[in-house]
Amino acid sequence: MKYVGAHVSASGGVENAPVNAHEIGAKAFALFTRNQRQWKSSPLTKSSIALFAENCEKYGYKPFQVLPHDSYLINLGHPEQEGLDKSREAFLDEMTRCQQLGLDRLNFHPGGSLGKISDEDCLRIIAESINITLDKTRGVIAVIENTAGQGNNLGFKFEQIGFIISLVEDKSRVGVCIDTCHSFAAGYDLTSDEAFSDTFNQFEQTIGFQYLKGMHINDSKKGLSSRVDRHDSLGKGTLGLDVFKRLMHDPRFDDIPLILETPDETIWKEEIALLYNL
Ligand SMILES: [Zn+2]
Ligand SMILES: [Zn+2]
Repeated sequence: MKYVGAHVSASGGVENAPVNAHEIGAKAFALFTRNQRQWKSSPLTKSSIALFAENCEKYGYKPFQVLPHDSYLINLGHPEQEGLDKSREAFLDEMTRCQQLGLDRLNFHPGGSLGKISDEDCLRIIAESINITLDKTRGVIAVIENTAGQGNNLGFKFEQIGFIISLVEDKSRVGVCIDTCHSFAAGYDLTSDEAFSDTFNQFEQTIGFQYLKGMHINDSKKGLSSRVDRHDSLGKGTLGLDVFKRLMHDPRFDDIPLILETPDETIWKEEIALLYNL
């Protein structure tokens, strides 16, 4: 079964996210559990945690249908100690919040070298950051998102993600989220049957579908291999609707959150319905 939803607002409290998801007919959702543009955040209150559970129960959202996203400030591969410590501390807080909410996965961007260290060193630091955080938390899977490869950001090649996973000690608590826009921008074509099947064969060989814990369903404003991360509404960009039709008919994408991060939130309800009708 397919679980399609969107990255909904949690403004006013995390407990509002499942309500917002339900209103657009979502069977899955993503949220930020803290302000994604600030380093510090006040802890989740007991009442917020209880209401979140209550609303998830009421609208039928199980942990595997929820894919929280961490803050954009965090860089787990930061080349400098101060930036790295700050990132690791914030990431631990993010993972702890997911644990408190009874959720089982947290989606994050791997990080980047800022051009100051080699890609391999940066990937090793990212893996170390994951290991440190997994040791201090329980039950939450660290879900690495593939990136468009903008700037010095790593994780745009499946091999880079596979390398990080190879260094993670507890393989049961590491996963991957594939963003269709990022994949295309990074050079993985999806726009024909052959290209789609090729890309996901490469995924299977270098990472493996057992690690796939979510997808981000976005069209792209920019072209193949552009290395530019600009999401577009479904069918309006360079990917086109056939990509999403292939995905919706492929059982390898069953039973994981399929999350829209498309730019026009006023049409998410229609986009979700569209995906189910493809
Ligand atoms: Zn992301
Ligand atoms: Zn994404």
